[in-house]
Amino acid sequence: MKNILISGGSRGIGAALVKGLCADGHRVAFLYYHHSEAAEHVAAESGALPICCDVSNPDAVKAAVSVARREFGGKIDAIINNAGVSHIGLSRDISDDDWQNVINTNLSGAMYMTREAQGDMIAKGCGRIINIGSMWGKTGASCEVAYSASKAGLRGLTMALAKELGPSHVTVNCIEPGFIDTEMNKSLDEETRASLVNDTPIGRIGTPLDVLAAVRFFLSDEAGFITGQCLGVDGGFAV
Ligand code: NDP
Repeated sequence: MKNILISGGSRGIGAALVKGLCADGHRVAFLYYHHSEAAEHVAAESGALPICCDVSNPDAVKAAVSVARREFGGKIDAIINNAGVSHIGLSRDISDDDWQNVINTNLSGAMYMTREAQGDMIAKGCGRIINIGSMWGKTGASCEVAYSASKAGLRGLTMALAKELGPSHVTVNCIEPGFIDTEMNKSLDEETRASLVNDTPIGRIGTPLDVLAAVRFFLSDEAGFITGQCLGVDGGFAV
């Protein structure tokens, strides 16, 4: 049983991670920001602790990590940096606010949570940090320049942290999902969805449970010698 902190647990992939890892017997706390009703629902269903926190705000993240640690009554064993936002549009049109919101949420948020929680894992001499990237961080997505840059940044963060924290037996890995059926993709029209499925060798849309399977693997004792890796959970899209 591990004490696990997950960002972005109110909806989509994060909600599936919260529920799945609670069902596995772990003690789970999760961060959410805008959707308190959804967060309460996930908490009631899973028994996890919801904490309202904007991951792009370093002071808020520091406070939230302290709350999680206190509620666990012990050190954090693993974090999953999952909170993310997307922005679709031409690069020439992106506003400063939109650029900063995507970078600060997807990339800086992961760094803030890692900075605040890593001391627990270093002190224990073991731990797991899992970043949820995206296949677009590997291949680049047209009209998603901030999103692609933020997710490519997570690759660098993962590799650098793996080297820095390896001597403390803290592994750091990145999961790069492909097209997963969540609200993040709700604005895509039918033609775009069909084309994404067509470009996916496995020939279907992914589900949050596909991502949960990879998370379970990186959390396991058996994965203790695997660090600094980016694992595509994308049905072969980015191969
Ligand atoms: P959703 O839009 O369904 O959920 C996003 C989650 O992130 C919500 O729980 C949301 O909380 C939280 N969140 C957003 N901004 C903040 C913030 N500033 N502070 C705290 N929490 C925040 O997205 P998905 O579940 O689809 O995506 C989860 C992760 O997976 C993201 O990092 C995404 O980039 C990545 N991913 C998703 C893919 C897909 O196809 N769906 C593909 C590749 C990667 P709230 O609603 O309460 O604000």
